[in-house]
Amino acid sequence: MSELSNISVIKDLLHRHGFTFSKALGQNFLINPSICPRMAQMSGASKGVGVIEIGSGIGVLTKELAERADKVVCIEIDKRLLPILDETLADYNNIKIINDDVLNVDLHKLISEEFKDMDVVVCANLPYYITSPIIMYLLENKLPINRITVMVQKEAAQRICALPATRDIGAITVAIRYYAEPKMLFNVSRGSFMPSPDVDSAVIALDILPTPSVSVKNEETFFKVVKGAFSQRRKTVVNCLSGFFSMPKSDITDILNQCGIKPTARAEELTMSDFGKISDLLDNK
Ligand code: SAM
Repeated sequence: MSELSNISVIKDLLHRHGFTFSKALGQNFLINPSICPRMAQMSGASKGVGVIEIGSGIGVLTKELAERADKVVCIEIDKRLLPILDETLADYNNIKIINDDVLNVDLHKLISEEFKDMDVVVCANLPYYITSPIIMYLLENKLPINRITVMVQKEAAQRICALPATRDIGAITVAIRYYAEPKMLFNVSRGSFMPSPDVDSAVIALDILPTPSVSVKNEETFFKVVKGAFSQRRKTVVNCLSGFFSMPKSDITDILNQCGIKPTARAEELTMSDFGKISDLLDNK
């Protein structure tokens, strides 16, 4: 068991460094000793593999990744954690910490500079306040990575892993499924963190598809259709899209007819391929 999961060790460490948790940065550190080894194992971290970790905290997951992978590059926004990580990760020579906001880091450049000839995966216990933007940043950048294994809020995990054309889906489900195959791995209770958040969590894996799940003429239109269709959940796709694209309802109804979609359909009833077909026809307008 890593001593970084031991509450008195953590308290002593944080106290010595005068560290206080930042709620704004989503700082809930893992204290359940069984979670990090399991996450690291399932992330694909192994010989010949390089790992990008987002948000190291005090390094509890970082250590587990470094034990298994050839190299770990961790992007941590909070510079107050750097002296702590110097201490907790002192025994490892295969970890590099970058002090930055992950959304400002050129990840293509990072991968080509840091992970030559290695397969690359991402593994992180994500800060809740910025889960979707980080996941979409990783996917939209079309990085040469195989798998993203992340801990997110349980409700977010359920939405992301929902099957298309079921009630639980949202714009994020469709957007993620365009690039990846999501899988629910395991649940993590709120008591597994210090401080304990108000919600439970779950670990999910996103296996990156070699090509997008639907072939569309224009990706920008596809993502606008997805955003527009889910813009008002209780309304029909016709109403949502005509408002979103400022087009007459009759034009949208005509497009849906051509796709074989009934005009009363709501976004959660559509399949990935329906979104693709609507996008291609809208693109012709
Ligand atoms: N990995 C640690 C663990 O499991 O105990 C910490 C996880 S904590 C939920 C999230 C971490 O992400 C914090 O250390 C926080 O400072 C960092 N963080 C928050 N926003 C970030 C951002 N935009 N870029 C990089 N790191 C960020």
